[in-house]
Amino acid sequence: MGGREQNYVNEAFETNWIAPLGPNVNAFEKSIREELGESVNVAALSSGTAALHLGLELLGVGKGDEVICQSFTFSASANPISYLGAEPIFVDSETETWNISPILLRKAIESRIKGGKKPKAIIAVHLYGMPYKITEVRAVADEFQIPILEDSAEALGSTFQNIPCGTFGDIGILSFNGNKIITTSGGGALVSKNKSYVERAIFLATQARDDAPHYQHSNIGYNYRMSNVLAGIGRGQMEVLSDRVNARRANHQYYKDTLGQFKEIEFLREPEGYFSNRWLSCILTPSYEIREKLRLALLDENVESRPLWKPLHLQPVFKASQHFVDGTSESLFERGLCLPSGSNLTSEELERVVTTIKNVLS
Ligand SMILES: *Cc1c(COP(=O)(O)O)cnc(C)c1O
Repeated sequence: MGGREQNYVNEAFETNWIAPLGPNVNAFEKSIREELGESVNVAALSSGTAALHLGLELLGVGKGDEVICQSFTFSASANPISYLGAEPIFVDSETETWNISPILLRKAIESRIKGGKKPKAIIAVHLYGMPYKITEVRAVADEFQIPILEDSAEALGSTFQNIPCGTFGDIGILSFNGNKIITTSGGGALVSKNKSYVERAIFLATQARDDAPHYQHSNIGYNYRMSNVLAGIGRGQMEVLSDRVNARRANHQYYKDTLGQFKEIEFLREPEGYFSNRWLSCILTPSYEIREKLRLALLDENVESRPLWKPLHLQPVFKASQHFVDGTSESLFERGLCLPSGSNLTSEELERVVTTIKNVLS
């Protein structure tokens, strides 16, 4: 926590706003708008997954539709496609940002159009905080007139050409889950420059109640709004977002400075114009065997590290889904490792991680 979260939570108690609406929710949304830009509208929700679910519904996705989704991501990026009875079409990554390949994206769209079904939306992800190829992905989406749902769950504080992540899609989503760069313990947001999307999201997130003195419903609604208590945590967290980004980037820099000389270790570089919040610091090794050697040596020292996300087209639950892949994400999964990346790591802890890795490699 940053320091002032408890004050805002106390405010909720003192004013008896213990509800999924209230002054903290409004103020939290305002602080997100200040971060993303005044042209952006914000709906604070109960989770990033809820935001993805509403986002797909707002883009008109329904039963039997197809939605393109980056394969190299967390399962929550794709699960809401299934909630709506639609089908995910997984697309592999490129090697410069580890995110959705514009070339394979085009191939997937062209192939599905030939097959008689134009995808309803594209879910592109800024994985580990690294922006996807914004310009190239937007060009393909515009050419085929398919909207982008931008999964910015891991990328609050990241920018492309100084423009904040979360603002590049037709709709963007954020997550404030406990493991993200800032947190409300659990929470998320749907953001869009299109105000009607955000108004509709708030309507659907609050049980889709029509304007009537009694409870009247013409739509199926959801209970997805953010609690005013948790939004108090969010207000305090937004005040320290830039500190958190600096701390995560400093972790990454430390790993690069101390491990960069080893030929067995490769880091994901920021291409020109890209700024990553470095939510997690990841390394690539030459092989699965070396990756595992490092992971197990760290575990012996009671240090947890984790393989990169397992591509969704390889997940048992999605094994029947169509996919357009070239082996990139599979190779990243086999060779990659997320190192300890918390904003509160001490220099002694970082040193311990690096010493353990150096001992394995030398
Ligand atoms: C965390 C995460 C989500 C889901 O957010 P929740 O708030 O945990 O529901 C979606 N996509 C990605 C890429 C994530 O990392």
